[in-house]
Amino acid sequence: MNLEYTPEQRAFRLEVRAWMETNVPKERLPSFDLTREGFEAHRDWERKLSDGRWGMVTWPEELGGRGLDLIRWLIFEEEYYRAEAPTRVNQNGIFLLGPTMMEFGTEEQKQRFLPSMAAGDVIWAQAWSEPGAGSDLAGVRSTCARDGDEYVLNGQKIWSSRAVFADWAFGLFREPGSERHKGMSLILFPLDAPGVTRRPIERMDGEKVFAEIFLDNVRVPVADRLGGEGEGWKVCMATAGFERGLLLRSPARYQQAAKRLIGLYERHRHELPASMAERVAQSWMDADAYALAIYAMCSRLAAGGTIGPESSTNKIFWSELDMALSQTALDILGPRAELAEGDPERWLDYYIFALAGPIYAGSNEIQRNIIAERMLGLPKG
Ligand SMILES: Cc1cc2nc3c(=O)[nH]c(=O)nc-3n(C[C@H](O)[C@H](O)[C@H](O)COP(=O)(O)OP(=O)(O)OC[C@H]3O[C@@H](n4cnc5c(N)ncnc54)[C@H](O)[C@@H]3O)c2cc1C
Repeated sequence: MNLEYTPEQRAFRLEVRAWMETNVPKERLPSFDLTREGFEAHRDWERKLSDGRWGMVTWPEELGGRGLDLIRWLIFEEEYYRAEAPTRVNQNGIFLLGPTMMEFGTEEQKQRFLPSMAAGDVIWAQAWSEPGAGSDLAGVRSTCARDGDEYVLNGQKIWSSRAVFADWAFGLFREPGSERHKGMSLILFPLDAPGVTRRPIERMDGEKVFAEIFLDNVRVPVADRLGGEGEGWKVCMATAGFERGLLLRSPARYQQAAKRLIGLYERHRHELPASMAERVAQSWMDADAYALAIYAMCSRLAAGGTIGPESSTNKIFWSELDMALSQTALDILGPRAELAEGDPERWLDYYIFALAGPIYAGSNEIQRNIIAERMLGLPKG
């Protein structure tokens, strides 16, 4: 791995920076979890990105991307966070389903789904978890019964982020009568199809972050299955690798947060104990260490490597870093953290979301099991 950027990479960074400086909205967009207006404002931002061909720079040009390598994607992300651009409402599509479709989709599926995904015209939700099947995803009970050229979907999904306003979902279903990892299929379905009912789950702050999805004899064409029939487990493990290990949480997010933390410390240092400097420095070093590890990983991937179980170590690292970093911010602010006017950066919101980091994308306990079994070769517990 070469730690110097090439002249082309440096020029690319400046190009992204210039575009972001001109185009990132000056005002923060309203939450995409609270209202349809906020959601649509974020969709408009996705469209603007896509018009500038910044939707997903690694995708092939004919699918709405720029055909660039992962190192350029990391540079893009650094500039994206530096500009404090809006959170990607289409993260499930571009970071999870998109790369999975590149690997497992048919040509027809790629042509049909990827350009509209890159353009933000179709916003995707992930419909995997069920009551009783979260960590134990192989315990999914929702079914896909084959009826000629169609599947009939039945069951219930839960904790589906952004599904309240999203357009389509990618769901995990099983053949009736099948058990555990066998007989599962990954099926794409429109969230406004007859038989689909969405029920928002409101958080204490009123944001409709999640939805439950009820499926009652929902008919979808067999052509909307991603990957082989009964091979859903293999397909969704590839998606989970992208989610945990690389795309969902780029290191730039934490480097930018560490930069803000340093700024916060600087503003309050006269009133803080010396030990606080150490904690701030630790978060900054951890964010940079994570970035270096991801640069190394992307170099390995470019040379033909695969992600594998290190996606689990990455996931534990970024989620724990995020909690420590935002806890330090709250400790710097003290009681002011709870007052909007005392903390315009809203570190409390950041911290509360960071607490969910060890749960979503597969809980950290489960990641530790994977590391124990697949990296350390320990016996199954
Ligand atoms: C912010 C957020 C966004 C989410 N978005 C989505 C989404 O878009 N789509 C979707 O499908 N799901 C989503 N989820 C759901 C998420 O995937 C599940 O919450 C997660 O997999 C844990 O499942 P569970 O909640 O059912 O907890 P459980 O599986 O009931 O686990 C409860 C606790 O027991 C521990 N545990 C369970 N089994 C073991 C074991 N074998 N060994 C050790 N410990 C164990 C877990 O680590 C956890 O601490 C989201 C969750 C959050 C918090």
